[in-house]
Order: sequence, then C-alpha cells, then structure tokens
Amino acid sequence: MHQLASVTPVCPGAGASMFAHVLVQPGEIAFREVPRPTPGPDDVVVRVRAALTCGTDVKAFLRGHPKFPMPTPFGHEFSGEIAAIGKRVSGFREGDSIMAVPTAPCGSCYYCRRQQENLCDTVMATMVLGAYAEYIKLPAQLVKVNLYPKPDDVPFAVAALLEPLSCVLHGLESLVVHPDDRVVLLGAGAISLLHLLTLRAMGVRHIAVVGRRANRAQHAMRLGAEEVFTGGVHHAYEQVMAYTQGRGADVVIECTGQVDVWEAALGLARRGGHVVLFGGCPPGTTVRIDTQRFHYDQLRIVSPFHFTPRAVRRAYELLVGDRFDGRALISSSYPLSELAHALGEHQRGDGIKFAVVP
Ligand SMILES: [Zn+2]
Ligand SMILES: [Zn+2]
Repeated sequence: MHQLASVTPVCPGAGASMFAHVLVQPGEIAFREVPRPTPGPDDVVVRVRAALTCGTDVKAFLRGHPKFPMPTPFGHEFSGEIAAIGKRVSGFREGDSIMAVPTAPCGSCYYCRRQQENLCDTVMATMVLGAYAEYIKLPAQLVKVNLYPKPDDVPFAVAALLEPLSCVLHGLESLVVHPDDRVVLLGAGAISLLHLLTLRAMGVRHIAVVGRRANRAQHAMRLGAEEVFTGGVHHAYEQVMAYTQGRGADVVIECTGQVDVWEAALGLARRGGHVVLFGGCPPGTTVRIDTQRFHYDQLRIVSPFHFTPRAVRRAYELLVGDRFDGRALISSSYPLSELAHALGEHQRGDGIKFAVVP
C-alpha cells in the first residue's frame, strides 16, 4: 500500500540541510535529507508552513504523471514564511508570511503578449515542485509575478489553496452568471467543492452537485449546495432536468477529467448553456459531440487550462476577503514525514484536502 519506501540519509556537506520528499517512482516516496536551497539575487526561499495534498499528486504517486519525470521533488500547493531573500528583491522581507502559486509565465512570448499567459511557452516547464519539504526556492520571475503577502488571519493551509483556486477562477473567467441561474457541478472532489465555494461567494444560490460517494455529498451540502445527486453522472439526467424545469442547467462544470463525464456534461446543459470541461482527460482520448446540440442549441463549451496572473490576483482577493471560507476544505493535518498517509486519505475520499506541516 502507501508506505514510505525508505529514508535515505545524505551527507549534507558544508551547507545547511533540510528534509524533503522525493517521488522516486510511482508508489515510492523517499523522505531525504538534502541541501537547503539558497536564493540567488532575485529569488526567495520560503520555509514551508503548509503544503496541501492534491488529486494531481495522488495520481502522480499512484500511476506516474507525464508532467513529473521521476525522480522528482514533489508537492506544488504551499504557503509559508520567507526564510532567505535575494538582495535585489524588493517589497518583501525575511520573516514575511507569503502565499504563492508554483508557476509564473515569462511575460514575453507570443501567448504572454496576448494575455494568454496560461499557455506561455515556458510556464509549465519552469514550474516549481518540492512543496513537501521544509524549504522551497521561488525563482525571480515567480517572485515578480505571483508572490503575495499572507495576512495573519488567513491560516497557512488556507493560503495554500491559492494555486487550485487560481485554476478555478481562470475557468470561470468568461462566465456570466445570473443570480437565479442553476449550476450543476459534476464530481464532488476538492476541485468541485472549490467551484462550489467560489460560486457561492459570487452570489450563485442554486447549485447542484453530482457525485457518487455519500461522504463527499455531505461535504457539498455543508458547503452550500442546494441539491446533491449521488446516483452518479449517468443517472443524473432526469434529476438535472427536474432541477431545471426541464431546460437543462444554465452552467455545467465538469470536475472529474473522465471522458464519459465530459460527454454526459454536454447533455445536461440548456440551449445556449455554458459548459466548462475543467478536468483534464488521459492522453489519447477523444469525445463525441452531438453536432445538432452544439450548433442549433448553441452550447458554449470551454475547457480551461491552468491560470493567468489575473486569475491568481482574483484568487488572492477571494482568499483574503470575507466572502470565502477555505477552512472547510482542509480536513486535517499531518506532520511532513507522514505524507504518504495524507495522500492515501485523500485518495480514499475520507476528507477533501489534507495539510502536510513541516
Ligand atoms: Zn494541485
Ligand atoms: Zn510566456
């Protein structure tokens, strides 16, 4: 099952050392003593105070991930305090509490010049991994673009929601919602529940969540869903039609990354409805679209990827404001050494997200 494979002590040499998890291969995490990072003139080194489990990490741990060639530092949702700072960095000081996302667009490529920074030529390749560690180094461009101060009243674990919440806000960017819209969320995992909290903060009152696991459904009700349909997506059609006076949903947001759920999503939207296909599907898969529905019912289908600095800014404002309470998404915390436990709990759906605390 999910066990720490080994603790491999490394002689740290002259510099200071730290403990960090390394994803050695699928199913094997090593908790190692490694050199502590030091900042270049424009970098910041953060002492991690909370890192969150994420479905992406669970997938990488269990099956591997095309974006994480192994062995790799591991973990990408974090917050903490500035432990060391480059001499040319301004606006921050050692000891400041911060929140950040693990990527930053270059600002100058073809996509960045068109405000499509989520598609930046280098944004994924320069992603910072290694949040499941005592310290993490943030490079110059990230410090410049996507580093924010953390207010004292926002807990570190909640501040670490900045990355997934930025993805959610990017996905909702083109959405225009009326207060009486009926929104259907497909899936009841952390991303679905983040959408739920965000839509509630935007003033949307009528939100139904389609899930399968009863415990997840309970979370959805607690977080403000109006209805929870636990029969699974393929049995949800009648329920969604009943919920929407037979029209179909004004907005359908797919949060599972499964091909059959993508296809089902298109069938649940009303004429002129908005479909957000949020979850990325496995490589090599295709979906079938009913062309009559797509054209004559004029569905608006978007499949957002990653986020722009605009979305990070809005996610930040939501997290530090008083309309959004992310604490309900953090089910419990584990010490850093018990990462594998936290990932296992996340995978079993025993909670929503788990904080790992060095
Ligand atoms: Zn994540
Ligand atoms: Zn770029």
